[in-house]
Amino acid sequence: MSEVLLTINDLHKSFSTPVLKGINLSFMRGEIHSIIGENGAGKSTLMNILTGQLYKWEGSIIFEEQNYSPTKPSDAQLFGISSAAQELSIIGTLSVAENILLRKLPNKLTFVSTSELEGKARYFLDLIGLEHIDASMLAEHLTLGESQLLELAKALAIKTFTECKLLILDEPTAALSGPQADKLHSIIKGLSDDGVTIIYISHRLEDVRQISDRISVMRDGVIVKSSSASNLSIDNMISMMSGKPFLGRSDRNDNQIYELDSILEINGITNKYFQHPISFKSRKGEIVGVAGLAGSGRTELLKALFGLSSINTGTISLITNDSSEVIKNSRQAVKLGIGYLSKDRKKTGILAGQSLAMNLTLPGLSLISSTAGIIDSKKELEVTQDFISKLAIKCTDNTQSIESLSGGNQQKVLLARWLHCDSKVLLLDEPTRGVDINAKHLIYNQLNNLRQQGKSIIIASSEIEELTNICDRIIVLSNFKLVKEFKKECWSKNEILTAAFQEFTTSKSVVNPQNISKNRESNHVSN
Ligand code: ADP
Ligand code: MG
Repeated sequence: MSEVLLTINDLHKSFSTPVLKGINLSFMRGEIHSIIGENGAGKSTLMNILTGQLYKWEGSIIFEEQNYSPTKPSDAQLFGISSAAQELSIIGTLSVAENILLRKLPNKLTFVSTSELEGKARYFLDLIGLEHIDASMLAEHLTLGESQLLELAKALAIKTFTECKLLILDEPTAALSGPQADKLHSIIKGLSDDGVTIIYISHRLEDVRQISDRISVMRDGVIVKSSSASNLSIDNMISMMSGKPFLGRSDRNDNQIYELDSILEINGITNKYFQHPISFKSRKGEIVGVAGLAGSGRTELLKALFGLSSINTGTISLITNDSSEVIKNSRQAVKLGIGYLSKDRKKTGILAGQSLAMNLTLPGLSLISSTAGIIDSKKELEVTQDFISKLAIKCTDNTQSIESLSGGNQQKVLLARWLHCDSKVLLLDEPTRGVDINAKHLIYNQLNNLRQQGKSIIIASSEIEELTNICDRIIVLSNFKLVKEFKKECWSKNEILTAAFQEFTTSKSVVNPQNISKNRESNHVSN
């Protein structure tokens, strides 16, 4: 493990402002080397340079003692560098097999039989733990976690055709359930035993500590520390990432939750997913957590509450001082003051191709427009500047395109969207997915502020600890059934997990055919 594979010397890269400010870093052959850092630190930018997706930079990169200066992804492949990117690049209208072997489909008009293609893809699907997926199905039917594993299968497929010396994984576990992540980790370990160098980027610091040989901490475009993993504690990592000592999460300021007014009342709703009626209330000034295994209905419940799916029986009502309104669709939900943050930023969250300002103000356009409907650009600037500073959104200015922001900063913009509208109820599906620890704390602090202003927040998360840290109450879904409600502090991670498994472990649990695609991950613990 002492042989150097890759050395980066004084690497600089600017967009409109400098993003990488003199990176010096070496990677050894066969090591698992993690890079951690806050959102916006420049990790993906550095990786995009190594994989030839970004060029025009200064400095030098030496790969196996040769000068390496890729200008396109195929240059990286020639050198034996393969990657699974942070933002997924799965093409939904192609089959799973075609996605895996996309980069290896013949260039000329040679005939490839579908069965041959699917046979080859099968090998990779089994390898990454997607044994249950049919290689011929369209990729758009995969869950987010499965898509992320498919991204890895694509990277591994390249390895079998060209010798892979370096594999770059940028946030590969953000959407994975616990066992899926474990599987990934064992694949990574196997590859490193075979001499492949792995660059691993993740916000799951405990995983990072466990699987890495070395960890480098990046802050604001420079490497602030590179050390053997055994020398770093999680608190060390966090304070080096932020440059400040770790003060821990903000303490909750308790109140008598059960005396608060209810604002959203869910009365016996059923729909195509939920055959067992769901009833619960969320109150003003309360954070309600929705826990459950992957595929247990967390996402479907939030969508139903926002009026995105039709209800068969029951009602969802928003209670205001003197009236109660039944929510029928998402348009009306927004009008009544309900905000929704979806789990899948890229597919259903951001408005691609639009500016940060546009993305932030979209549902609240009327608040910055004249009565004639014309946007007041001075107001727009004021509003966006205000949120940029409040939420510490890293950007050049409010005209920057939303896709060019790092994942965590995109998430902050989406949250700001609903803060701007002054939503009374916020439905948040995995709001901290792929977000670094400091941005996470910032989001938690915001939620705490909202709670103290009397807003009601319903948050679905695969991380039980996240829920037990920030919620006042937790409801647990198991196989599309609400099985348990825990009052604050009357819970333990084990009890929540036991409840989450309830409908999957009893012999009478029958899989609802309509839910089969959702249930594929059903026996996986979400975290
Ligand atoms: P990380 O992966 O560490 O979260 P990134 O490398 O994605 O961070 O982003 C680093 C910084 O570079 C961010 O402030 C981001 O807004 C900026 N950035 C990334 N890509 C672009 C781009 N194409 N144009 C302008 N700025 C960009
Ligand atoms: Mg990134």
